[in-house]
Amino acid sequence: MEQLWERTLGSLKSHLSSENFETWLQPVQFGGVEPDSIVLRIPNQFFADWISAHYLDLIFDTLDREAGDSNVPKKVRWELDETLREKAQAARESTKRPPPRATPREPSVFSDLNPKYRFKNFVVGPANQLAHAASVAVGSDPGSRYNPLFIYGGVGLGKTHLVNAIGHTILQRNPRARIRYVSAERFTNEFIWSLQNHEISAFRDRYRSQCDVLLMDDIQFLAGREQTQEEFFHTFNALYHSDKQIVVTSDVYPQQISEMQERLVSRFQSGMVADVQVPELDTRIAILQKKAETEGIALVSEVALFLAQMVRSNVRELEGTLLRVAVKAELLGQPMGLELAKETMRQVTPNQDMATTVEDIQRIACGYFGVRLTDLKSRRRHRAISFPRMVSMYICRQRLGTSYPELGERFGGKDHTTVISAVRKISGLIEEQDERVLSAVGAIERKLGI
Ligand code: ADP
Ligand code: MG
Repeated sequence: MEQLWERTLGSLKSHLSSENFETWLQPVQFGGVEPDSIVLRIPNQFFADWISAHYLDLIFDTLDREAGDSNVPKKVRWELDETLREKAQAARESTKRPPPRATPREPSVFSDLNPKYRFKNFVVGPANQLAHAASVAVGSDPGSRYNPLFIYGGVGLGKTHLVNAIGHTILQRNPRARIRYVSAERFTNEFIWSLQNHEISAFRDRYRSQCDVLLMDDIQFLAGREQTQEEFFHTFNALYHSDKQIVVTSDVYPQQISEMQERLVSRFQSGMVADVQVPELDTRIAILQKKAETEGIALVSEVALFLAQMVRSNVRELEGTLLRVAVKAELLGQPMGLELAKETMRQVTPNQDMATTVEDIQRIACGYFGVRLTDLKSRRRHRAISFPRMVSMYICRQRLGTSYPELGERFGGKDHTTVISAVRKISGLIEEQDERVLSAVGAIERKLGI
């Protein structure tokens, strides 16, 4: 049986992106067979939910195929095993960062750029043309025409991809260029750490004198963080006055970033400001085709059209959906046709009359956290209220795809930027495998049956 599991994993591995495989399946251990279930050991509850939602059918299909005659129980008993957590963590780290490079003198920052995000695999369309053109210009001639470059737009629309591509291009031309790619969150953490550990001058060296290009992702994270904004302001000036290139991304236009110092906002506006919008249908199709090409997926045009029509607002989801259909096709040994795509989508978005509503999510979240609906919709900022609110917003956005302004409306008339930062905050915590968020999201979604 153990071998059967190994074979099943092997088969799944060749069909999933390595990132998904390493994140979700590699850390799972086989715990044996019981009369009516197989036992899988997982690092935390979220794995059970995620795997059940995304991979379980495939796992059973593959197990069945590999098992031949012997009957494999059709249920899983999940066993939490905390020692697997480190393994999961390591897997995540290794998918994020390439191994350290051999030559020690090589700029170490190189490893902070994501090797997958390059201009050659970025599909250009009317929605991102300007941001792309500006990024290409900055890549070939940093520190001159478009400085700073400010790229803004919704989640999953290619901002991080573009800034990484800028970094790669500059490095290709000048391998000695010292490029700092950093999220505003990490910048903040490093700053705080260096203050506490009396390392502030090293911190300043790193981001001022030892830096030729600063790529600062998700600047909205600095909202309300006065001291970090102050530090960033001086960093910005030091770089700017030595003609070093600065690129900043944000989910909203400079002036709309909440609680951001006016002088920073005006710095951001002083250079080139470019947006990335939701790509229109043709671009979405082209993105699918490009992704299919790199992943070696045979994608026929009617399926591409169908998927591009179904998933509209987020390129990351679009890619995820393509992979899901492809994996399913492979594992079932079927061609990736329209029927299969439709069936997969039906599982992802249940049909209209069954559909979960924002109210369902709010109600169940209130039950889970033990807060009142009126509080959830109130302006109260106490963490006991704001955390349930952020989690509910996140689930609504992820599962229902409700627009930010509409969510703001349904949560008691809040600004859409509030919703955006809530969703981002929770996504970030999920990426960090935050226990509290993972179990809340898992439990609420289980209750909802989605
Ligand atoms: P953001 O930083 O704006 O939230 P990302 O840059 O992380 O978004 O993009 C999300 C995913 O979508 C990434 O895998 C990225 O490669 C992909 N993507 C986004 N836009 C494009 C595009 N125009 N062409 C190809 N891939 C894209
Ligand atoms: Mg990003």
